[in-house]
Amino acid sequence: MMMGPMSNNHDALKEMIAEASRVVAFTGAGISTESGIPDFRGPGGMWSKYQPVPFDDFLRSEEMRRESWRRKFATHGMVAEAEPSRGHRAVAELVRRGKVASVITQNIDGLHQRSGVPDNKIVELHGNATYARCLECYERYELEPIRIAFEADGALPECKACGGIVKTATISFGQQMPEQEMRRADEETYACDVFLAIGSSLTVYPAAGFPALAKQAGARLAILNREPTELDGLADLVLNREIGPTLGAAVGVA
Ligand SMILES: [Zn+2]
Repeated sequence: MMMGPMSNNHDALKEMIAEASRVVAFTGAGISTESGIPDFRGPGGMWSKYQPVPFDDFLRSEEMRRESWRRKFATHGMVAEAEPSRGHRAVAELVRRGKVASVITQNIDGLHQRSGVPDNKIVELHGNATYARCLECYERYELEPIRIAFEADGALPECKACGGIVKTATISFGQQMPEQEMRRADEETYACDVFLAIGSSLTVYPAAGFPALAKQAGARLAILNREPTELDGLADLVLNREIGPTLGAAVGVA
């Protein structure tokens, strides 16, 4: 469907947000590339050698677990030092105002938390790479002690409580999607009246199903992404622009 004359203008987005009573902000890699974090799921490029190790391989051998941690710590500093972008700050401001009821994210960098969004307002579909968990008992472990031991002699982290394998708290390729988060994302999507998809190419399922679900449930759909997405035809508003400047201007965050 063709968009009206306002369609490539942040004023249209501002208006849609103003009229909404309950917004879901759904975010993908694009909001974090503006923080300097490369899109690891993107095709090729210099980052492909740091691609996460598939879950089955991680479970299969100590060698693959070592490789996984090696890749993790090779890029860890960059993620740890990244600051929230203007887009993150604009989303946080909408949460603060009570406009955005929840942030559903495909990102694993923890930047929504860093920008001030409370943990209980964030649904992380792919987990979180800024800490680790035991795969058996889900005990949480911080990364810094793991990094120090690993870099000293290649030691692999083991759960102190149950002896289980410890892995970053991300959902790896081939790992089951987190049930509770998926259910919450469904509920929030059904409950919103505006679904705002930010910086996602909307191609990775099941995450990409949420915008369609929102439309079915009667919400309006806005898509803000640098490139066109496959769901643009479904949307009430499409903005193919930089995220920070566009959302920042619409929300009034510098
Ligand atoms: Zn454990």
